[in-house]
Amino acid sequence: MTAMRDSTWPEVADRSGAGSVLLVPLGSTEQHGPHLPLTTDTDIAVAITEEVAACRDRVVVAPAVAYGSSGEHDGFPGTLSIGRQATELLLVELGRSASAHFGRVVVVSAHGGNAAPLARAVERLTSEGRAVEAWWPRWDGDLHAGRTETSIMLAIAPGRVALDRAEAGDTRPLATLLPVLEGQGVRSVSPNGVLGDPAGADAAEGRRLLDLAVRDLVARVDQGDVDRVGRVGRLDGVERGDGVGSVPARGAST
Ligand SMILES: [Zn+2]
Repeated sequence: MTAMRDSTWPEVADRSGAGSVLLVPLGSTEQHGPHLPLTTDTDIAVAITEEVAACRDRVVVAPAVAYGSSGEHDGFPGTLSIGRQATELLLVELGRSASAHFGRVVVVSAHGGNAAPLARAVERLTSEGRAVEAWWPRWDGDLHAGRTETSIMLAIAPGRVALDRAEAGDTRPLATLLPVLEGQGVRSVSPNGVLGDPAGADAAEGRRLLDLAVRDLVARVDQGDVDRVGRVGRLDGVERGDGVGSVPARGAST
């Protein structure tokens, strides 16, 4: 597994260029209820990227982007949001820099609030002819700091989950909550910050969810290589990512 934190530039050079993929974990620093750490989204993005890199030689993992667009959580101490515009600009500049040396760049986002700025950044980068894509896990389940994220954190870092403090929050679906969240923030509907219910969370379920995500991202990494071979010539060798546009099927939060 090649992670930049353990690598010198010559080591990364051996794994860059045509056929290489840089995975950029994109998380957030935001409240995750009374029982999960503020870095939960970042931790999940890092775990997925590192497991994928362990499966594929030409995949390098960048240091995580640990801040994102978390304005809906700003009623809680510990939330550190850089907002939508800064998130978009950060990703645009990062994508420009990364695509100079890597065949493809895949931004792996574990925070639903980053979806819109990420989609705009990818759209801009692909319009510049850069091979930058977005990917996010597609898990069913509750929205934020509930059973899904608690299970995953139990699989990744059980020592940082305070299960004895876990409690249910607002369990209404996103479609109902979204207008309120966007207008008044999470705290207005859920004083403890949870959107969902962590009851029943366990490490085995978290492991299954992680495996699903890792398999899906490995397939994306492999599929991109197939796409590139198919497209060379039609696009004069310019690879265009396919991650533009749609937002996650669930969860504006997470
Ligand atoms: Zn989250």
